[in-house]
Amino acid sequence: MSTHFVIIGNGAAGYRAAKALRRADGDAMVSVFTEELHPFYLRRQLGEFLAGNLTLPEVIFQSRNTYRRDRIDLLLGTAVARIEPAAHAVALASGQRVQYDRLLIATGTRAVPLGIPGTDLEGVTLFDTLTCASETRKALKDVRRAAILGEGVIGLTLAESLLGVGIRVTQAIRGERFWPEILDEQTSALVETILEDHGVALRRNQQPRAIIGAAGRAIGVETADGETFPAELVACGCRRRPAVEMARDAGLDVGRGIHVDASLQTSDPDIFAAGDVAEPVPGDDFGEEGAAFCWQRAWAQGGLAAASMLGHQAAPTLEAVRIRTILFGHDLAVIGRGHLPESDTVKALEFREDPALYRRLVFENDALVGAIVFGTGETVHELNRMVAQKAPRDTVEGRLGLAPAAPAVDRLPSTFARHCPICAAELVVHHGTRAGAVLRCHACNTDLVVRWDGEHGWLDVDQP
Ligand SMILES: Cc1cc2nc3c(=O)[nH]c(=O)nc-3n(C[C@H](O)[C@H](O)[C@H](O)COP(=O)(O)OP(=O)(O)OC[C@H]3O[C@@H](n4cnc5c(N)ncnc54)[C@H](O)[C@@H]3O)c2cc1C
Repeated sequence: MSTHFVIIGNGAAGYRAAKALRRADGDAMVSVFTEELHPFYLRRQLGEFLAGNLTLPEVIFQSRNTYRRDRIDLLLGTAVARIEPAAHAVALASGQRVQYDRLLIATGTRAVPLGIPGTDLEGVTLFDTLTCASETRKALKDVRRAAILGEGVIGLTLAESLLGVGIRVTQAIRGERFWPEILDEQTSALVETILEDHGVALRRNQQPRAIIGAAGRAIGVETADGETFPAELVACGCRRRPAVEMARDAGLDVGRGIHVDASLQTSDPDIFAAGDVAEPVPGDDFGEEGAAFCWQRAWAQGGLAAASMLGHQAAPTLEAVRIRTILFGHDLAVIGRGHLPESDTVKALEFREDPALYRRLVFENDALVGAIVFGTGETVHELNRMVAQKAPRDTVEGRLGLAPAAPAVDRLPSTFARHCPICAAELVVHHGTRAGAVLRCHACNTDLVVRWDGEHGWLDVDQP
């Protein structure tokens, strides 16, 4: 009998897992359930689609025919309502039940409801699916001003896309600075500067009280201070939480996300979780706001989940990147706990290489636990690995070429004679020679480094 792999969710994690399962096991049945209406598409490119830089076929990465060719049973518009672990079954919203041998939960995140009046008005969007993005794109002709409520990757994407098509953008942030749960002060300031330089009107310390409407359409936002700003488009899905309800109801161990081990197995041996819905595994401790909503991580975990569902031993994904995006051409990556403030045990090294390039490395007890990169993404891959491995500080500094400059070298105060450590020939080192200088042995031609510890001098075969 062939194995039936069932996957809930067809985003980066679910899609990648389905493809990997099919490739590895030609006899298996692979079924993917998604409440969405489109096959796999590039969710992180929805902003480009809105701005008109990408067409629908360019965003939809895989057609339904490709699933058919791969014999992956894709059920669009099909929400799973319940997981029944004891029966090895999922119950669909339609009431139908489907048996599984191994199940993958890849349900991503859901917007945290704002809990204010007006979110059901036309012109209010979560901007988190292709359906939302298509509707928003169609409605843009009637939009001159937009409001983005809160911070997050979706809001950043949207701000850039809307400005790109000539719409005025106001963004209301909850505190004094941008996204303090994820960014350190410097990075918040950099993001704010870029947004404001490009024309976003940032409103700080603003809690929305209501979305105001007329004739069923959004026309503006009212804040708790009684301020109002006009907007025909309001984005309100910036704060997200892992979509864990079904897993919790099924009795799986759940915290902020679904608890998984390093192989992405949940507390039920036949159920796995991957992507944004999975809580970072112990050791990937991302801190208080311990979630990572990241395409790259979801994609990597989809592959690992498939291997684990097949019973293979696979190396952990070592993905510590929590946020990776591009804002007006600037890379922004938050890795692990890159935002942590300094304390007795936490030290942060900040590098401002030029006004538009900033890196922050965070060490806890001298192990790298986080990093933030803003400007260029060249070091993100390397930093991701090192955070995932909690690399010691000297290794990090060495690999990134950040080792502090060698202290000014002393000059030898007296002349002394030493034997070559290779051939034992006698060599004379004259006073005034710089410590670290290289001498060549006249007998064996070995290059020797002059060492001086402040009191004693000697010759070494190491490179300076
Ligand atoms: C506009 C936008 C811009 C973004 N930009 C970036 C970026 O620049 N960089 C970055 O790293 N990330 C970005 N992201 C986030 C990134 O897209 C996610 O981290 C990634 O998609 C997570 O993949 P996933 O597979 O875990 O979940 P998702 O892609 O969210 O997929 C989960 C799927 O499960 C489905 N589902 C949920 N519950 C059920 C159910 N009960 N039954 C059936 N189906 C269900 C959902 O409808 C959804 O289709 C962006 C997201 C958006 C919306």
